[in-house]
Amino acid sequence: MVQFPNWKLVKNEKSSLVEFDLDLECSSVSLSLRLLMRLDTISGDAHFYLRDFFSNTKHFDISCFMNSIIQCLSNIRCLLEYIIKEDYLSDINTTLSTMKGELIKAFGNLLRDLWRDGATGPVNTGPFKAQIQRFAPVFTGYAQHDAQEFLRKLLEGLHEDVNRVTQRPKPNIQEIEQDLDDREKAIEAWKRYLRYDDSKIVDMFVGQLKSCLQCSVCGHKSNTFDPFWDLSLPIPSKSIGQVRLSNCLDLFTKEEVLDGDEKPKCSKCNERRKMTKSFYIQKFPKVLRFSPHERWRGKLGYIVDFPLDNLDLSNYAACTTISTRYRLISVVNHSGTSLSGHYTAYCKHPYLNTWHEYNDSRVSSTRQNRICSAEAYVPLL
Ligand SMILES: [Zn+2]
Repeated sequence: MVQFPNWKLVKNEKSSLVEFDLDLECSSVSLSLRLLMRLDTISGDAHFYLRDFFSNTKHFDISCFMNSIIQCLSNIRCLLEYIIKEDYLSDINTTLSTMKGELIKAFGNLLRDLWRDGATGPVNTGPFKAQIQRFAPVFTGYAQHDAQEFLRKLLEGLHEDVNRVTQRPKPNIQEIEQDLDDREKAIEAWKRYLRYDDSKIVDMFVGQLKSCLQCSVCGHKSNTFDPFWDLSLPIPSKSIGQVRLSNCLDLFTKEEVLDGDEKPKCSKCNERRKMTKSFYIQKFPKVLRFSPHERWRGKLGYIVDFPLDNLDLSNYAACTTISTRYRLISVVNHSGTSLSGHYTAYCKHPYLNTWHEYNDSRVSSTRQNRICSAEAYVPLL
């Protein structure tokens, strides 16, 4: 359940963004995952498959956690187009990939079935289920699972299947030169990441984080750049019941003092020193996913204030010249207990910008005020 008090509907936009939010609430735990899409990253020229498949009833012989995630991914436009246009076929990795392309092919067939013009009747999820279970046997059977874990695993599998790295690269043990400027260091670190993991899935979902350490004795600064698939956000400890997403982000990027056992080694003093550490977002991914910090697992739900429409993250950017605005595309709801709970999803149609509710085999239109009026609990994925 989600509450988004800052929601405004933008009418004339060309749906040039996709975002995605998952909120999972259990009786004792609350989870939420947010995937958002950058405003400027999708071209507005694709108009195929606008059919109103929502009027059809689609039968899923599939667990609700899987269904909710598939529906969310299916409404992320850049991913949908990559799959439906079959661009992925020429990217299939048949050497290093565990599944040799079988997972993404099965996912592609499933998405094509979902979006097929004029299709009615059940969608056969069997082949996809068979492949995801081969890739991740933990999802075998009908037991309930954490939707976030499923999403993570599915993205990993899809990425492997289309990883452009087809031969295991030689490890590069040389450290990045310290006399490069930050921009050059960031580019070099990103290049090194791409030597191992380089795919359309990475292009869409992976960002880069800058972490800055400063020595309290000599003042020496050292910056490192690491890829991230999601941002794990803490919840301010003083918040009761309600928290703004921006407060979680403020806390995430707030300067932290590393002292005592945590003291890192200063490369200039050549000794372990008390240091300050802070994070910035160096590279914003097209689709941004927030996940709650591990240590908040088990906390009771918080309502997260979150602007659906225009979330500006420029305050957290390492450089100010890049686009940092995001918007929501879907919400996964989880009700009941963690073992017997039920997942549903609200997703925004990638072309029509209308909201729909996915509840097992039922797909129905939903009004945005329904999404706005519900409660958003904070993250724990
Ligand atoms: Zn020092």
